[in-house]
Amino acid sequence: MLRCIQCGHELKADPWVLSCPKCGGLLSSEIKEKPLAISWSLFRTRRFGVWRYKELLPRIKEPVTLGEGGTPLVKIGKKIWVKFEGANPTGSFKDRGMTVAVSLAKESGVKNVICASTGNTAASMAAYASRAGMRSFVVLPKGKVARGKLAQTALHGAIVIEIEGPFDLALDVVREIAGPDTGLYPLNSLNPWRIEGQKTLAYEVVDEIGVPDWIILPIGNAGNISAIWKGFLEMRKFGLIRRMPKLAGVQAEGAAPIARAFKEGRKEPLFTDNPKTIATAIRIGRPVNWAKAFKALRESQGVAEIVSDQEIIDAQRKLGRMGLGVEPASASSYAGYLKLLKGDVMGEEDRIVMIATGHALKDPDSSPPVESIRALNKEEAINKIKELIS
Ligand SMILES: *Cc1c(COP(=O)(O)O)cnc(C)c1O
Ligand SMILES: [Zn+2]
Repeated sequence: MLRCIQCGHELKADPWVLSCPKCGGLLSSEIKEKPLAISWSLFRTRRFGVWRYKELLPRIKEPVTLGEGGTPLVKIGKKIWVKFEGANPTGSFKDRGMTVAVSLAKESGVKNVICASTGNTAASMAAYASRAGMRSFVVLPKGKVARGKLAQTALHGAIVIEIEGPFDLALDVVREIAGPDTGLYPLNSLNPWRIEGQKTLAYEVVDEIGVPDWIILPIGNAGNISAIWKGFLEMRKFGLIRRMPKLAGVQAEGAAPIARAFKEGRKEPLFTDNPKTIATAIRIGRPVNWAKAFKALRESQGVAEIVSDQEIIDAQRKLGRMGLGVEPASASSYAGYLKLLKGDVMGEEDRIVMIATGHALKDPDSSPPVESIRALNKEEAINKIKELIS
């Protein structure tokens, strides 16, 4: 069953109905009754990953899967972990939602899918659509998509439309053209079925270490923070957990419509038409899921934080030196953590999980330049290395 998050209208689940027929609000998939016999021990009889939790996901006969989810939870401090979503099949958490939404689309006979994207949704959709035998169309903000993501999109055979303007404009295109009459199925995060898959990130964290005190993550279109909070709400509702974590949402200085408003105690975001940040995955001025994000931050008694591009780059380099290669948007979790540590919201005793949303290979241009030492022959190379280790 689907429920409108704005007016509460309830309707039967239909993959093509993606907004409330009464008020146009966002829809959320609701599980009415506790699925029979679910427990951690049942889940653990299955392979780690999205479909381990299938009773809490839409029922699908044959999932379109690439083995998504089941990503490493890497301990980087006494009570601090990084959930490394870069280990997903296409290198970002987007795969969690895509396996569910593409599976549903396939079951309903969809042949063509479309999305607007800052890059990772496009890469993920293109891969899963190819696996399902569908054609994919992606609308991208020209010149603002990281190189690795473009390469993946091309490799998986998507048809690319580049538009002058930010992500938000690309999304307007999709909203206008997608629908049953054109047969183009939209796979942006206003699609409630992607949120269903993405909520498994919360299940996996609890499956491994129980409920942490804090979860820190970047906010772009705010799909992920909505999904994670929904995951926790459902776990509590079905008796799988008792306590809840607090959420910390991080945005970049030049693209902080939610974080800025939340910090100022406003009820609505401060949209911008000209978002700017090197963290292209969160370069979004008008987040679609803003209402769900506000709800998640408020209900969890969480916080919002704003970080500069320099802080993001510094955090990315620090994670790199711990062996964790993440793209800039993902490093904003760690940048936010370092900033929040200085205040009094998080304590030493808190168990903290940071979500590293995407892999460093996505955006090779954001890595430091290679400072190489030149050698003309074997002897010179050997001598220079000897000098360096002495
Ligand atoms: C999509 C994405 C985000 C933002 O997630 P939202 O659900 O849009 O808030 C952050 N980091 C990376 C790497 C992403 O791909
Ligand atoms: Zn409604």
